[in-house]
Amino acid sequence: MKEIDWANLSFGYIKTDYNVRIYYRNEQWGELEVCSEETIPMHMAATCLHYGQEAFEGLKAFRGKDGKVRIFRLEENAARLQSTCRGILMPELSTERFREAVLKAVKLNERFIPPYESGASLYIRPLLIGTSAQVGVHPATEYLFVIFVTPVGPYFRGGFATNPYVIIREFDRAAPLGTGIYKVGGNYAASLRANKKAHDLGYSSEFYLDAKEKKYIDECGAANFFGIRNNTYITPKSTSILPSITNKSLMQLAEDMGLKVERRPVPEEELNLFEEAGACGTAAVISPIERIDDVESGKSYVIAKDGKPGPVCTKLYNKLRGIQYGDEPDTHGWVTIVE
Ligand SMILES: *Cc1c(COP(=O)(O)O)cnc(C)c1O
Repeated sequence: MKEIDWANLSFGYIKTDYNVRIYYRNEQWGELEVCSEETIPMHMAATCLHYGQEAFEGLKAFRGKDGKVRIFRLEENAARLQSTCRGILMPELSTERFREAVLKAVKLNERFIPPYESGASLYIRPLLIGTSAQVGVHPATEYLFVIFVTPVGPYFRGGFATNPYVIIREFDRAAPLGTGIYKVGGNYAASLRANKKAHDLGYSSEFYLDAKEKKYIDECGAANFFGIRNNTYITPKSTSILPSITNKSLMQLAEDMGLKVERRPVPEEELNLFEEAGACGTAAVISPIERIDDVESGKSYVIAKDGKPGPVCTKLYNKLRGIQYGDEPDTHGWVTIVE
């Protein structure tokens, strides 16, 4: 293997040695198979290709100072995938089978888990797709569950820093009673134009308002939003937000730190009142927000007045990363140590 430059990895795909697969046929999940092929032979009429019967997950494994490998909240990812399966009529994979597959994929590719000092990690990507041929719009009868892994670099190369974001009113990512709460590829296809527009305008990512009234904050690209004010952690409640496991973890840590936690609709005007705010997800943990521009209405909400991440965001970020790398005690049982 060519030496990997751990400190300069980006968030891209690097080929690893193996992926793992489980096929669903005859109304049941089969045995776990280990594979070194990167491709999936598939029928051209597979439902994942035509009708978007596709779900995915994203989680990470971290190598600690003690050399141990820790996987963060894999049971939560299993539960979310099960919820997505119910949402788009795919067979659920049990938490036990999900755990078996994640552990196998990580262990088989151990040499790709970055060293502690690099600040990098191993990204784990589970994927579940409908594979049987179908021309009418119906759920498939056969499915494939795959997990591949790839090492990814630290999100903040130049240190933990703030970024500008923009509200895009022109496009919706998900409808109030649509698939926004499920981790399906279709939501991402729906977000590509808004995301490109945000990048073309020089922003880090796009913000979505609720699709019905365009009054409340929904999500922020492929991340959840939270704001801090009056010693309170506030995050939007909506029927079209993907329930982020990072956000769920931050809510718990905020509570542990003595903050109040509120999950409720967040009107756009409230952005003026936040002392700090962030976008959160597996990739960055927290990406602190400098300001949010609403270009179509001409408003601009400056959150980080000095341009720097605030004290609460910094504390939450360090705490969560500390738990993931094993530098902080795992008091909530969030971590699976790979034996
Ligand atoms: C995956 C995802 C998130 C973040 O979820 P985490 O579990 O924290 O990684 C947020 N929003 C969307 C739309 C997502 O797909």
